[in-house]
Amino acid sequence: MERTVLKFGGTSVADLERIHHVADIVAMRAQQTPRLAVIVSAMAGETNKLVTYAQKAGADQLSPSDYEDEYDVIVASGEQVTAGLLALALRQRGYKARSWLGWQLALQTNMAHGSARITGFEGDAFPDAVDSGEIAVIAGFQGVTGKNRISTLGRGGSDTSAVAVAAALSAKSCDIYTDVDGVYTTDPRIVTKARRIEKISYEEMLEMASLGAKVLQTRSVELAMNHKVPIRVLSSFKGLVDEDNSGTLVCDEDYIVEKQIVSGVAYSRDEAKVTLFGVADTPGMASRIFSLLAAAGVNVDMIVQANARGPALANMVFTCTSKHSTLAEDALNRARDEINFEALEVNTDVAKVSIIGVGMKSHTGVAETMFRALYEKGINIDVIATSEIKISILIEAAYTELAVRALHTAFGLDAA
Ligand code: ASP
Ligand code: MG
Repeated sequence: MERTVLKFGGTSVADLERIHHVADIVAMRAQQTPRLAVIVSAMAGETNKLVTYAQKAGADQLSPSDYEDEYDVIVASGEQVTAGLLALALRQRGYKARSWLGWQLALQTNMAHGSARITGFEGDAFPDAVDSGEIAVIAGFQGVTGKNRISTLGRGGSDTSAVAVAAALSAKSCDIYTDVDGVYTTDPRIVTKARRIEKISYEEMLEMASLGAKVLQTRSVELAMNHKVPIRVLSSFKGLVDEDNSGTLVCDEDYIVEKQIVSGVAYSRDEAKVTLFGVADTPGMASRIFSLLAAAGVNVDMIVQANARGPALANMVFTCTSKHSTLAEDALNRARDEINFEALEVNTDVAKVSIIGVGMKSHTGVAETMFRALYEKGINIDVIATSEIKISILIEAAYTELAVRALHTAFGLDAA
């Protein structure tokens, strides 16, 4: 029995007019597939408002272990409202529909309030309801912990709810409706010639999402890859008929016949470069520094170690988000005597620009093309990091747009 999962993001359910439009889309889809589960986000801006309420009610003053369970109770409420509203709008159109909250689905998570991970579903009530032909409207973003408390999946988490439901229902696909009509080769606000990508592999999408493309929550792509759930990203703002809304299919690499060398260019301005000058070049030093950073909760990205001028001394450079750089700075300064570095410098005026493509696995000269394009624009590269399917560079923040445009052109991504 074929089941389909649809998901609508915050801008798609931003007000009642939009919710009615979503109900029209769902009704149209219900004509094609009778077994539907629909995941909704909170109205755009709602979660931010709830986060502020939680902070002002006391979370600001408390330590996480004293507020995070109630924080989740508060911020999860936005999705409860939209789920109920959409269920009503569907009933008004003559469809059988009901809302489902995280605990009613028995969408179990671990105890990591605020960024909980899904551990599984329990019971058959929900799949049975879907199979009976009743449209299930699910509050995204929320689950329930082993202690029977409400949890949330991290910001943007209703994408992950949608993929988890699609996996649990063995759905044919998971259609994520949003305010853009697909995944683009880069940010269209920077490059007007950015193109919609028809098909992109999980691996590439994972890199794009974690490198700054904001269409999908990174975790949702990870989950889709593990369960082989194809995701389609498409627009909820298009008309219902006669308009191309094929979106972007995120799928297994094997389904992509024409592989691009570079599929996309991503960037992130929320970067910081931390340099520790003059640390002893001895075994165990890197281990000590990075275990200290891990303990402080710093998520380290690029790492470079180079010899300093002095004898047996090295400079250790790493990058992280600007927010984490404050944690890093504090932790390192506190351990100054232990690590015995000469100086510490934090530079937040940097950006990371990356090119991503599975074709890199089998092509040579990609780095050369990248570096030449940057050189021709006079852009200085600070740090370089590579993986099998991406090359990232750290540059001065002021050059971000120029770099993104130059790379988009250099790899033949510009629309005709
Ligand atoms: N409403 C939540 C957020 O704003 C979850 C989501 O929209 O995906 O992060
Ligand atoms: Mg989102």
